[in-house]
Amino acid sequence: MSMYDIIEFTYNCPHCDYILTQFQSKDASRLMLTLEPSDVSNFYTVCPKCKAFIEFNAIEKPIYSKFSLIVSKNGETTWNKHVTIIGGEVVE
Ligand SMILES: [Zn+2]
Repeated sequence: MSMYDIIEFTYNCPHCDYILTQFQSKDASRLMLTLEPSDVSNFYTVCPKCKAFIEFNAIEKPIYSKFSLIVSKNGETTWNKHVTIIGGEVVE
């Protein structure tokens, strides 16, 4: 069974605007803990509505506030930009 931690983070799907409220990360304990984006260097989810894969990768270490956001659908990258996340919110 694949384990992960839960990242508490809200982001609207860039494709269909569905409000995504839970992401996953395999960067930390993988014990189903609830963490913040700044606790990990990678987190992701699959949009339950349109099936887009939405992934954030930290750029700056050790303070994880700058992430690259990569969204893909049907195996093709549809979004690739840098975002800053502070206090659980994207500050563009
Ligand atoms: Zn979507």
